[in-house]
Amino acid sequence: MSERHARSVLFPGIGPEGQARISRTSVAFIGVGAVGAAAAEIALRAGFGRIALVDRDVVEPSNLSRQVLFDDDDARSVRPKADAAADRLREIDPAAAVRAIVADLEPGNACEILGGHDLVVDGSDNFETRLLVSDACRALGIASIYAACVGEEGRVAVSIPGKTPCLRCYLEALPPPGEGPTCDTAGVVPSLPPLVAAIAMTEALRFAAGETPAAGLLCLTVWSGGFRSRRLFEQARPSSACPVCAEGRHPALETDAADLVKLCGRQSVQITPRGRPRPDFDALERRLAGVGRVRRSPQLLNADLDGVSLSVFADGRCVVRGTADPACARGYYDRYVGG
Ligand SMILES: [Zn+2]
Repeated sequence: MSERHARSVLFPGIGPEGQARISRTSVAFIGVGAVGAAAAEIALRAGFGRIALVDRDVVEPSNLSRQVLFDDDDARSVRPKADAAADRLREIDPAAAVRAIVADLEPGNACEILGGHDLVVDGSDNFETRLLVSDACRALGIASIYAACVGEEGRVAVSIPGKTPCLRCYLEALPPPGEGPTCDTAGVVPSLPPLVAAIAMTEALRFAAGETPAAGLLCLTVWSGGFRSRRLFEQARPSSACPVCAEGRHPALETDAADLVKLCGRQSVQITPRGRPRPDFDALERRLAGVGRVRRSPQLLNADLDGVSLSVFADGRCVVRGTADPACARGYYDRYVGG
């Protein structure tokens, strides 16, 4: 047993056997943003056997306030987050097996990317990817941990096939996306992501060591009145209305990615989110008014934001004008509309 892990081995809940199990456990991180980067560093230092880092974005200066694996050089050279994070982790432990995957997780590649791992930690920043990770993990029979934060609120939930409800059971019982804030509209307390990552990775260690998963969805807030936490759905059973748990379907995998995002005219990309509820224009207007100029009619909300124009239609479609790059358009959509 490596000297590196002596203090973990000394802790009775882990011990030599638990540490050996951790070293045989492979983890994939979806999203290496604030939560994902902090979680991946904890995983590496704690001795997880194999680590895969999946992220579609590049490092930007605004990431540096809280995304612990990146530095000024990474932002200036616009490095892919997965590559920059993997290099940093290899500096911490040159013997570690770390793989960078620069990709947007989609219905067409999710099972291939996630397959073969024992655990998936979802630190993604949008609702569609979260449901995709959850559905793909259920289809593959893999455990997953959801870890998210926005503003002053963090959430963590463990999902284990055959033992707990899936993430869809929880998220579909909460207010729909579009009504909630995203980090790009509401900001985030910079100390919150490492806290959420630490809680998620404690569950990852407990999972690897064979402990019973914590029940339900942990919600914590850290600013108003200081730290507070509560668990939702603690007694919940898999929902009889959940297509995954009740019918064995995986709707996010059935979605044809080619239909989701398509070019429409010059310098315009249309995004049609499948299975989304109608957008809440009042909530959207309140959020976007702080970051750009917003105009609306009963059928359309239009917002001009740093160089692009977003048009959100009442049926849920969104057209991003000012770019011909579908990935870039989807990034704007996830950042300002999805949540
Ligand atoms: Zn479910």
